[in-house]
Amino acid sequence: MSVAHAPRWPLGVALLGATGSIGSQALDVIDRFPDRFRVVGLLSGRRLPNRTARYTVRASDPDAGARVREMVTDPECDLVLVAVPGACALEPTLAALDAGKRLAIATKEVLVMAGEVVMRRAGPGAIRPVDSEHSAIWQCLWGEAPESVARLILTATGGPLLRHPGRDWRTVTVEQALRHPTWSMGPKVTVDSATLMNKGLEMIEAHHLFGLPLDRIEVVIHPQSVIHSMVQFVDGAAKAQLSHPDMRLPIALALSYPERLPGVVPPTEFARVGELELEPLDRERFPSVDLAREAARRGGGYPAVLNAANEEAVAAFLERRSGFADILPLVRSALDGFRPERADPPPGVAEPELAAILAADAYARQHVRERLGKVEE
Ligand code: MG
Repeated sequence: MSVAHAPRWPLGVALLGATGSIGSQALDVIDRFPDRFRVVGLLSGRRLPNRTARYTVRASDPDAGARVREMVTDPECDLVLVAVPGACALEPTLAALDAGKRLAIATKEVLVMAGEVVMRRAGPGAIRPVDSEHSAIWQCLWGEAPESVARLILTATGGPLLRHPGRDWRTVTVEQALRHPTWSMGPKVTVDSATLMNKGLEMIEAHHLFGLPLDRIEVVIHPQSVIHSMVQFVDGAAKAQLSHPDMRLPIALALSYPERLPGVVPPTEFARVGELELEPLDRERFPSVDLAREAARRGGGYPAVLNAANEEAVAAFLERRSGFADILPLVRSALDGFRPERADPPPGVAEPELAAILAADAYARQHVRERLGKVEE
């Protein structure tokens, strides 16, 4: 579906995930530019955001699904910021795309599990990345012809455990895994950056957003988080986007594109930045990027299995029901045990591809819960 209307100011914004890390930084940006943006709707998890809007929905409300659908399809809503963690963002994302809305997507899980379905439903330019790496690549691609692009280079900080001594992950605590060196983010994505699964998920996300094959997407370690990602072109040139590690920059750009808003973050003082290190990814120590690549290559429901198994394993770790060292083996085991033909699609989903993805998601969650000895009734 095409984007129905030209930009109009102030832009009506619906925030899915209003009290999380991305949502509260988005509200910061919105409040600084009141002539540009107004909040139409808010969906939040645990507590209600402290402000009024046409729609205010708590995820636990019994009619939350229907009200969110109403919010994201409302004629007053121009753009939906998708920033609720995890697979539950898929349904409202599809509803907003079908209604011809622009989307700023921070929830990479949506593109990982259902990238093909989502991109097919999105009109040209309807989806704007919020993930800092993808925002960087997006910016590097402006004005470039697709055939000029040789490869995408995703930078990774390496997360809180990059310099962790030894290779034994069994002693890693929740506190250690949550101590990110440069970014302040929600707990799920912070654990994902400790395992580096975040970079695996981002590779699949980049593959869908920019339409490049997986073997032309590379990961390099860059601990300072100043270079947010790069694009290499066929002539040998490369472009990078550099700025302070502050999510308000990619958020503001996703809201205001094609305009750049003044003073969103302080300009980088390059003379004071110091050393910028780039080093190869240690694939033996951090096998998650290869695991993600394998799932994406197998296609079908496999990326959804990867994503759902990871979500369940990370949740169990954060709730101290299992160890940090269990996360990747649980994902591995879910991928190995997956039999697409045996996964039961949920009732009432007409689109076969989407039904298969949701079946894969449900299988992986059940598989991990069984492994953890916590089969839910
Ligand atoms: Mg990122």
